[in-house]
Amino acid sequence: MAATSKFKAACVIGWPVEHSRSPLIHSYWITKYGLNAEYRREAVPPEQFEEFVRGLAARGYVGANVTIPNKEAARALSKADDRADKVGASNTLWLDGSTLRSTNTDVEGFINNLDASAAGWNRGLDTAVVMGAGGTARAVVYALSERSVKHIHVVNRTLDRAIALREEFGKCVNPVRWEELGGLLGGAGVLVNATSLGMIGKPPLTVNLARLPASAVVADAVYAPLETALLAAARTRGLRTVDGLGMLLHQAVPGFELWFGVRPEVTPELRALVEADLLRNQA
Ligand code: NAP
Repeated sequence: MAATSKFKAACVIGWPVEHSRSPLIHSYWITKYGLNAEYRREAVPPEQFEEFVRGLAARGYVGANVTIPNKEAARALSKADDRADKVGASNTLWLDGSTLRSTNTDVEGFINNLDASAAGWNRGLDTAVVMGAGGTARAVVYALSERSVKHIHVVNRTLDRAIALREEFGKCVNPVRWEELGGLLGGAGVLVNATSLGMIGKPPLTVNLARLPASAVVADAVYAPLETALLAAARTRGLRTVDGLGMLLHQAVPGFELWFGVRPEVTPELRALVEADLLRNQA
């Protein structure tokens, strides 16, 4: 099949782009499924992004991932779906005939990882606490509201950004200050870190998890380190944990399917491959 099918290429566009794990993930799947395809890195400075994206087809690409700092521009330059519009950013572009479309796969990445890593997490659940109000938090809130979580407390340093989420997603979102976090944990079925706190090189995230119910699930979008201090504390308390690496792997699935027509699987082998790469780079 691979020898006769038409060659397809996709890429990740970023500035910088060396840090991206997308080539590792997509190249693994291309080999696994025996596709006549290639996934490349494209370092494109912001001032050249528009010209690059408009010439995607001419450069031989069927689509692309977009990483920092061009996700907002990617949405503006394409026909974005509801997810990308509500999140305010697109991380995946694809050509549908001559129309350039885009979506935000962090929504699916977050929720599919939660489903895969903490089955039944939403059984009887009506309250979640999300820390952060940036791009990742918007994707998390979109995903939780799609699953009909009734109360989503959004805790953020800059309260205005949490208020903006309420304006976008409606009454299910309750914007709160950090000082109020402790009092909310007793009723939370899910606690999500969608800030950059706890990431290598960033300030630590210190949350006292004592009040969380024993059935609560704790998820972290941060994947460097693989086990954040938040997840380690949750594990010590015997709570179920869901890590950021799983989200990273699951968010890659829809793009691969859109470009190459095969829905790839997130396997323990793929996870081990990316985990080893992350650990090598953290050493
Ligand atoms: P972002 O849009 O820049 O938002 C950063 C968030 O962190 C904001 O809510 C910000 O609060 C908060 N924050 C930053 N420094 C803080 C501090 N010192 N004290 C209190 N709050 C602070 O970033 P993002 O794109 O959402 O990314 C957030 C994290 O998610 C990053 O670590 C990123 O690597 C990770 N991520 C993971 C995946 C995955 O697939 N696993 C995907 C996307 C992102 P303010 O609003 O007050 O500034």
